[in-house]
Amino acid sequence: MGNNTTRREALKGLVGLTVGSGLAGLALPAEASTGTLAPAIDVGIQPPGPKSLRLLERLKGEVGRSNYAGLYGIALQSGDGCYIRDVDGNVYLDCLTAASCNILGYSHDEVARAYYDTAVRIQQTCFAYSPNEETVAFAERLAAISPGEYRKKALIGLTGSDSIGGAIEAARKYTGKMGIISFNFAYHGSTGLSQAASGFTSLNEGVYDANDPNFVKVDFPTTPEEGERTLKNIETILAFGKVGAVLVEIIQGDAGKLQAPAGFFGRLKDLLAGYGVLLIADEVQSGMGRTGRWWASDHEEIAPDLVVMGKGLSAGYAPVSALVGRAEVIDALVPAGHVFTYMGHGPSVAAASAVIDIIQAENLVENARVVGAHLLRGLKAAERFSDVVVEARGRGLMLGVEINVEKDALASKVFAFRCLEKGIYFGYIGDKQRVIRVLPPLVLSREEADIIIRVVHEVAEEMAYGKVPQATIDRVQTYTLGW
Ligand code: PMP
Repeated sequence: MGNNTTRREALKGLVGLTVGSGLAGLALPAEASTGTLAPAIDVGIQPPGPKSLRLLERLKGEVGRSNYAGLYGIALQSGDGCYIRDVDGNVYLDCLTAASCNILGYSHDEVARAYYDTAVRIQQTCFAYSPNEETVAFAERLAAISPGEYRKKALIGLTGSDSIGGAIEAARKYTGKMGIISFNFAYHGSTGLSQAASGFTSLNEGVYDANDPNFVKVDFPTTPEEGERTLKNIETILAFGKVGAVLVEIIQGDAGKLQAPAGFFGRLKDLLAGYGVLLIADEVQSGMGRTGRWWASDHEEIAPDLVVMGKGLSAGYAPVSALVGRAEVIDALVPAGHVFTYMGHGPSVAAASAVIDIIQAENLVENARVVGAHLLRGLKAAERFSDVVVEARGRGLMLGVEINVEKDALASKVFAFRCLEKGIYFGYIGDKQRVIRVLPPLVLSREEADIIIRVVHEVAEEMAYGKVPQATIDRVQTYTLGW
């Protein structure tokens, strides 16, 4: 993190921010005068501001509704360091990172430059016909950083969904078995196979057959007892001999940062090995250092047969995903069996290789571990407002704060919206959308973590004592529900 201070100083000038007036009168932390970007938070216009709202109206008129989920109705314009600015000029500390993509924050021109330098030489080669150096070099890098000591190969893609599809195809072809076991409330994507394997039933209704015998869902365990039950359940299904692979997020991301009990994945891997069934780890959200190790699988000391990566892989600079795993499984697919016109797009993978360089050079996996542990400790302390905060959990900088939605179904959204008004840009997700997503950039500093902690405590206290302004609750009803 050596150059972080310099970068912050530079950014301070760039952003040209003054102390945020903040609608909620956010008190500045003690370190605000010491040259950190702490004063960058500035919510001077009630979000969503008029420019955001105008864009939302145009969006509703022109873009199909399934492209939009809805969060706050805010449109974003720019970013600096760990901060994002909306089209109305408000500045927030970013804890969503474009759904966990922008892991380097907004301060690494090197990545954009790597893209540009390649694009001005040749923008696209169509890798399937004419390979390029950038993609082969990127595949070599991926083999080196991904879990497992076996002989690996990579298939490059564009977005998590297509690489999940590739993993399912490869597993089917290799094992000769069509069955895929996945988990309720898993999110694996929005294309054919990835969506069928996903466990958010409302998204699949009327499009995918919930009773498709080739996609069986089991419960993701969070306690040792549930772990036993799920393993037993999986073994019963395996005994039919129809399953080729189990597909799982090592930490369930969109389900609300759910963690399996200790030892679950080791036992699952052993169980599958006994049946010749493959383990596919979906590390689209949990990979690239977010959990404080390169891969969430590393915490579990398992080497999945296939690992799917995306999101942070390119730190948000280009659509890039990858499937990395056992060479013999990957090569079960026939030549041209998994190709997309834009896969192996030279500028995009050059950018992604630059991301790996930066993570290594700046020790960002370690920063995620250390700052993440500090952040989690602070968030957990908010559990003392037990009527509001059920639990803070997660690993590294892949964290979640579960809000009690039993008495008030809107509570998590009110919580998130109130934090937004105080300058912290969270998401919310999971069953009943009850979990606040805490996914800041991996370059987050301890001081920035302290700002997040303070706002979470302030809002938890306001909610515990019924002090959230009615106007905020009204805005939640109007703007956070999507369409
Ligand atoms: N897997 C996981 C764990 C994800 O979180 C997501 C996206 N939320 C996907 C797969 C799908 O990735 P994409 O949206 O890039 O297709």
